[in-house]
Amino acid sequence: MQKYEKLEKIGEGTYGTVFKAKNKETHEIVALKRVRLDDDDEGVPSSALREICLLKELKHKNIVRLHDVLHSEKKLTLVFEYCDQDLKKYFDSCSGDIDPETVKSFMYQLLRGLAFCHSHNVLHRDLKPQNLLINKNGELKLADFGLARAFGIPVRCYSAEVVTLWYRPPDVLFGAKLYSTSIDMWSAGCIFAELANAGRPLFPGNDVDDQLKRIFRLLGTPTEDTWPGMSRLPDYKPFPIYQVTTSLAVVVPKLCPKGRDLLQRLLVCNPAHRLSADEGLNHPYFNDLSSAVRTG
Ligand code: ADP
Ligand code: MG
Repeated sequence: MQKYEKLEKIGEGTYGTVFKAKNKETHEIVALKRVRLDDDDEGVPSSALREICLLKELKHKNIVRLHDVLHSEKKLTLVFEYCDQDLKKYFDSCSGDIDPETVKSFMYQLLRGLAFCHSHNVLHRDLKPQNLLINKNGELKLADFGLARAFGIPVRCYSAEVVTLWYRPPDVLFGAKLYSTSIDMWSAGCIFAELANAGRPLFPGNDVDDQLKRIFRLLGTPTEDTWPGMSRLPDYKPFPIYQVTTSLAVVVPKLCPKGRDLLQRLLVCNPAHRLSADEGLNHPYFNDLSSAVRTG
């Protein structure tokens, strides 16, 4: 820890406090994340440490680099590459307008980061704007990756704030335990709509019931025909049968038809039919993506 000089607190999230800091030798600016563990007197579980150390090998331009893991007795500090801001703060600063090229670029980078992690069997499980970091040059990087597996799915932030349900898919809201990559694809869809609407969340539910109602009102209530096995999920309960009455064109008016098609394929209640990250990257919406983003 002597290696770093703490500069200022930059965030407080699900697992702990994040500080901006400077490496005293190299002067490199980093983000230090002090992880708080529920059973503090137990120390850091070895399972968590194993998971975290695997994340050090997860190197990709759209994933926040984990430079180092500092572990002393009961404390765990993760040393990350520093980014300028998170997507939530970006939304707050852009006052209701994000140009279509930026929406496309951010969405492409989000899918590219996801495709990389999913190909390495790492899931995020808690994707949301606060966990996407943005640099001034337009780079987007996924943060908080793999932590859900190391520390458990967040239910409550350490600051006692309730974890948001807004980006959770219906299968998880119905208590599905067998998480697969499809959980992140739903969240990516919700974030895509939010990007297209310059920061207005798509499904801002207040609780599990309200969350599912909002989803089904827009997409139609799934049935055993459209989603076999749904009614056998642990927390399943029947909902009113809503029919689709609102076109996505009304929900994301600024998104082009190809973008709406991509969104439609991500927001599929049956997880088996949701688009994968690789499929998303090959969607025609990205045909005219600037080569700087594609290769950058
Ligand atoms: P938690 O797991 O506790 O949610 P996060 O890694 O999401 O922690 O960090 C909480 C907040 O701190 C983020 O939403 C972001 O605003 C800020 N933050 C986290 N990591 C970085 C980083 N590498 N660079 C800049 N800001 C960061
Ligand atoms: Mg976070």
